[in-house]
Amino acid sequence: MLRLDNIHAGYGNTEVLRGVSLEVKAGEVVTLLGANGAGKTTTLRSLCGLIKPSQGTVEFDGRRLDGCAPDEIVAAGITLIPEGRQLFPFISVRDNLLMGAYKKAARPAVKQRLEQVLELFPRVRERLEQHAGSLSGGEQQMVAIARGLMSDPKLLVFDEPSLGLSPLLVSQVFGIIDKILALGTTVLIVEQNIVHTLRVAHRGYVLENGSITLTGTGQALLDNPHVKRAYLGL
Ligand code: ATP
Repeated sequence: MLRLDNIHAGYGNTEVLRGVSLEVKAGEVVTLLGANGAGKTTTLRSLCGLIKPSQGTVEFDGRRLDGCAPDEIVAAGITLIPEGRQLFPFISVRDNLLMGAYKKAARPAVKQRLEQVLELFPRVRERLEQHAGSLSGGEQQMVAIARGLMSDPKLLVFDEPSLGLSPLLVSQVFGIIDKILALGTTVLIVEQNIVHTLRVAHRGYVLENGSITLTGTGQALLDNPHVKRAYLGL
């Protein structure tokens, strides 16, 4: 479904990604792991059209997307849930959700889609008329995920969904992933919360200094001595 091949990208003269290649197949949960500054967010920005790779290709559903604008990438079926949620705090939860359905293809079925998404998030349904900024951190994360789903994406990309959440809320966020898959949406997650992520992911990639250094199933990576030593402190 998604293939990044030999992506080089960075900021100004600084090259951050040095040949990143990875693949996500339809129906999978794939994770990209790495320490602070490894280049995870830069990989997502390259994928979503927020920065232009200097080299390499992004292919999605058989179509080249590198060099495309962010709105074309959303229209192709990729939606990013950015780190830090980025909701509009002074408008209602409902209006935040409706903004997620701005892409043309998602507009006609917007009411039906809202119902479908709210089924997954009963807590969000209860808060629909509240200002998004008045919700707790965990509730805001749920709204951010729900808003991402409103565009009916083929691939939902999460940038550090567990950041700043309590352990209980982290479990809830990861618990929602199965439901997202059941909607027919494929998932790519960037995370530092390695144990949780590798438990839910079918496969993972480890990014170190802008290059992929390890790949395998979630369980194989959890059992990997380098992952244990470098990321789990074991
Ligand atoms: P974290 O887990 O801390 O978010 P990350 O793996 O997502 O880290 P990136 O945000 O991709 O890492 O950053 C990779 C490198 O690129 C870092 O050294 C960072 O300082 C640098 N960088 C990120 N954004 C910019 C920018 N806008 N301009 C210049 N350098 C940047």
